[in-house]
Amino acid sequence: MLCSSIQCRRTLNTQRNNSVVNKNQRVSQGVAKQMKKICIINTGGTIGMAAGPDGLRPEAGFIEKQLALMPELNNPSMPQIAVQEYDPVIDSSNIQIADWLKLAGDIARQYDQFDGFVVMHGTDTMAYTASALPFMLRGLGKPVILTGSQLPLGEVRNDARENLKTAIILAAQYVIPEVCIYFGDQLLRGCRATKCSASSFNAFSSPNYPPLGTAGTELEVFQDRVRQVPQVVNGLKVESLQQQEIATFRLFPGVSVEVLENVLQRPLKALILESFGDGNGPACNRGFVECIQQACQAGIVILNLSQCSHGSIRQTAYETGTVLQKAGVVSGHDMTVEAALAKLMYLFTRDLSAEDVKTELQRNLVGELTETVT
Ligand code: ASP
Repeated sequence: MLCSSIQCRRTLNTQRNNSVVNKNQRVSQGVAKQMKKICIINTGGTIGMAAGPDGLRPEAGFIEKQLALMPELNNPSMPQIAVQEYDPVIDSSNIQIADWLKLAGDIARQYDQFDGFVVMHGTDTMAYTASALPFMLRGLGKPVILTGSQLPLGEVRNDARENLKTAIILAAQYVIPEVCIYFGDQLLRGCRATKCSASSFNAFSSPNYPPLGTAGTELEVFQDRVRQVPQVVNGLKVESLQQQEIATFRLFPGVSVEVLENVLQRPLKALILESFGDGNGPACNRGFVECIQQACQAGIVILNLSQCSHGSIRQTAYETGTVLQKAGVVSGHDMTVEAALAKLMYLFTRDLSAEDVKTELQRNLVGELTETVT
């Protein structure tokens, strides 16, 4: 899984004086503008899958063959692209933290050679990867756009072609110094995105942050929503992120305190409590509240996230939330579960104390939450 190679390089064209000319054409006047170069990293996913005896599975070399069948990529308006395929290509349900480290490392290693990166990725865990990478790629000044599809590139009807082409164009033509997801017709901040549909071509949403861009007949990028290019250009720095003992727990009427008690055992370091509405729980259940309180006192970080995808935690809006706050639970604001998991992994990897982790969880580090003035 960890070996990779640039498998195919397409040198397509170059530009001169705003008009596009073929690479081999002589530039007799003016200064030739440097063509944009985009690196496509293919990690796998439905986009490059074919049917096997047990269902769809990723196929090595498939993407390269399919790209060769896309004449639009040779259009003079398209950038020069290089494709790096991972070995093996994977269904993203199999992605591991080692793969995130490899991806971040590959982007950093080739950072100076390209104007932007397009990461082909399965949709199942795309939002997790898009949430982890912003914590790992510090000082990012170029677009890193994850995309994939609900139907393989080889199908007659598919969403793969448009997703891929538009992601390449966005990465080449716009100033987007962020990790994003382009899917359907939306460009979303990666650490705000979540997979919301298993069947729609609009498979991702960003419930608490507006799209960074949209693709209709016109491509639009809303620069006021996009993060600023880092002012001090120190280059890209890769921050490590390691597996941590963290878990999620969804509340429901009739939830078993015994089960919760079992989850809240060491080596657990943090629990994401998926609560009701504004951040409420079964406050009249003394056993439940005591269990939460004891875990907090024992140094386990309990982070409150709402089961509602839209809106933010308001822990003291109701008595049923204030009880959790008094027990030591901290607000997760309007983070997605994917972003909260990535942030917890990132913070615990830095060996912070539970108290420092709680403090950092309240701050917006990479665009993952909306800081509210309290
Ligand atoms: N199982 C696939 C994956 O995540 C689903 C997809 O790509 O749409 O790799």
